[in-house]
Amino acid sequence: MTRSPDKYYNARILDRRDISADLCILRVDPGGPLEYRAGQYATLGIERDGLRTERAYSMASSPYEEALEFFVELVPLGGLTPGLFQLQPGDALLCRKIAKGRFTLDLGSGRTNHLLISTVTGIAPFVSYVRTIYRDWKSGASPMPGGHKFFSLHGASHSFEFGYCEELGRYASEAPWLQYVPTVSRPWDNPQWTGETGRVDDLLRKYVDAWILRPDETTAYLCGHPKMIENSRGILQRAGWKKDAILEEAYFQVAAKEAGASI
Ligand SMILES: Cc1cc2nc3c(=O)[nH]c(=O)nc-3n(C[C@H](O)[C@H](O)[C@H](O)COP(=O)(O)OP(=O)(O)OC[C@H]3O[C@@H](n4cnc5c(N)ncnc54)[C@H](O)[C@@H]3O)c2cc1C
Repeated sequence: MTRSPDKYYNARILDRRDISADLCILRVDPGGPLEYRAGQYATLGIERDGLRTERAYSMASSPYEEALEFFVELVPLGGLTPGLFQLQPGDALLCRKIAKGRFTLDLGSGRTNHLLISTVTGIAPFVSYVRTIYRDWKSGASPMPGGHKFFSLHGASHSFEFGYCEELGRYASEAPWLQYVPTVSRPWDNPQWTGETGRVDDLLRKYVDAWILRPDETTAYLCGHPKMIENSRGILQRAGWKKDAILEEAYFQVAAKEAGASI
């Protein structure tokens, strides 16, 4: 397959941090200027034997940073991630020159609470939001009048999968506008874990009440596993959220045979 050279940058891996055997954080030099807004995604690709494979990845980095950062999960029989996981600092990959996506901060509706719900790598766009807002807040240049507040509920099976727990916990301990609650759904595998337990969708009502979030004041953002998104959407709608107050970024589609299985 030939590629049109003007659509892609020759990107390069700058740094790689392995979070577990199947999760890593990649920092990437896109190879040219890539404009994006917090919450958008880039399209990364690998070309092998004339065959190009590319997929979407949310930026975890803030547009203020020079490098792009991605939080990637290995899908063992996937088309791209097995190759992506072989890449080391200095190795080349492709990056489309245009970032895309509408999963950006809702600053136009008048709702000033932002409920950020994610599973594992679905935290990436929220890291981008928070890094960006934190930097604006520290510099006194926040473009958000009206006291916006952010409430993040982040689920994973195991505590070692969180990736950004330390960073987000640090911001939350300093910034009065951020709450961050990581929760593990398999506490029996995590005897040292002292934090919240249970699946994010099972905890959603509890935290909506605890944080006193009202549908007319709160935009909900759902990112990651499609089943979590479907369940959370239903819970929020039954609690009074209208469709336009729920933004979604599903990372993949559930295969028909798995549709009934638990997350
Ligand atoms: C807008 C957007 C942003 C995304 N951002 C990220 C991100 O930040 N980090 C990230 O890791 N992924 C992200 N993804 C998913 C990513 O694009 C790929 O689909 C994923 O990395 C798998 O690629 P693959 O080629 O290895 O597997 P594929 O060949 O695409 O998939 C093989 C099979 O595995 C299923 N599958 C795909 N991903 C998963 C998964 N995570 N768990 C279980 N089954 C899966 C597919 O439905 C398919 O049946 C995003 C997707 C979208 C649409």
